Amino acid sequence: MTRVYATDEQYERWFMAECCRCGRRRHKAGHWPDGYICRTYADRAIRVRGTCPGCSQDRALPGRRSSDRAPICTTCAGFSQTFDCSRCGFEAKLLGGRLCERCTLSDRLTTVLDDGTGRIRPALRPLSDLLAAMEQPGSGLAWLAMRRNHPGKPAALLQRLAVGHIPLTHDAFHELQPWRTAAHLEELLMAGGVLPAVNKYICSFQRWLPGHLASVDNPEHVKTIRLFATWHVLPALRARAERSNITPSVRRNAAERITYATTFLTWLDKRDRTLGSCRQSDIDAWYAQNTEHARQRLRAFLAWAMQSRQCSRSLSLPAMKISRRAPLTEDERLVPAPRGTALARPRAGRFPAAGLHCGSRQHEHRHQPRLSLAVPWPPGGPALPPRPSIRPPQRDRHSSSRRPRCCDPATTPGDSCPCRR
Ligand SMILES: [Zn+2]
Ligand SMILES: [Zn+2]
Ligand SMILES: [Zn+2]
Repeated sequence: MTRVYATDEQYERWFMAECCRCGRRRHKAGHWPDGYICRTYADRAIRVRGTCPGCSQDRALPGRRSSDRAPICTTCAGFSQTFDCSRCGFEAKLLGGRLCERCTLSDRLTTVLDDGTGRIRPALRPLSDLLAAMEQPGSGLAWLAMRRNHPGKPAALLQRLAVGHIPLTHDAFHELQPWRTAAHLEELLMAGGVLPAVNKYICSFQRWLPGHLASVDNPEHVKTIRLFATWHVLPALRARAERSNITPSVRRNAAERITYATTFLTWLDKRDRTLGSCRQSDIDAWYAQNTEHARQRLRAFLAWAMQSRQCSRSLSLPAMKISRRAPLTEDERLVPAPRGTALARPRAGRFPAAGLHCGSRQHEHRHQPRLSLAVPWPPGGPALPPRPSIRPPQRDRHSSSRRPRCCDPATTPGDSCPCRR
């Protein structure tokens, strides 16, 4: 890059000025009637819309009235330039070609979703319409521009989708990497009606399963686990989704059934046994060596294996122990809900477009840029329990009997435990 200025002093004089809005010395983004303005405050000012107090027109109000600093339109403020989009005429921040962000996003989508014929692939038109209509087109442009040199960037996935390198099926998205971008794109396709709506936790499980199977060395074990997932775990999840709803814990239990089944097969392998040659003494030894939690998670696999004749049907499974937690004491009942739990009031704001959490590592979503639609959440506002008027006594932090239920030591930490959000 060639320097167009001779000295640093010249650079300062040509490109820097004191901003008339924030008062700091910044790069000049323009010269407005009230002085030089920086990029941040120019973008902020042009986003202000309303009825101009000078001419009573409903339009963008980037100017400031000299008497009271009230936002006014460009005409009343005496701007020498306009902010009208050269295509749609909307008054907004202008990008290349004097186009507004929405027209720019529309052009960008036409480019990335081009099927090779110079137009958007017809099947992806609903996705294009959905993205082009988002409330903040700037976030759509940022999403398309992210990870500029990465093969898994959203724009690259969209291009592969447009030319048919990625089939328009859920299964194709479950195999796709990077999985976070693929998951988000799959949500957007479901939101646009391009892909049939599938429960997000079922999607999450199907996305997790190939990775787990890839980590299993024994091909026979892979085959058995795949059959178990296909013919027992997934149908159970689908039935649950139709009957009621799938919670993060149901999704976690499904994955645990798979992992405990894998562990059991590996354990049998070390005893020179296969599922087919498994004897009652093996079952009894496993039950003796493992916790009640592990026994419960493995039970479905053994029942399925017997039913599908993967192992002897004469095996018997020890009865499950049903333990009930002691009821909450009056003190525990009055303790306010921990921050971030379902009972705590959520922040006002936006809700993810299709709100997917894989249920496996929720914290990993934290840095995933996501497009948002303007969906108020929850509708009508949350119903909160009345706050206790008396300050409850301090809880003993080391007493396991006083832990909140979400911190049950028998559950796998990290998934959807509300206290970890
Ligand atoms: Zn400024
Ligand atoms: Zn005006
Ligand atoms: Zn426009």
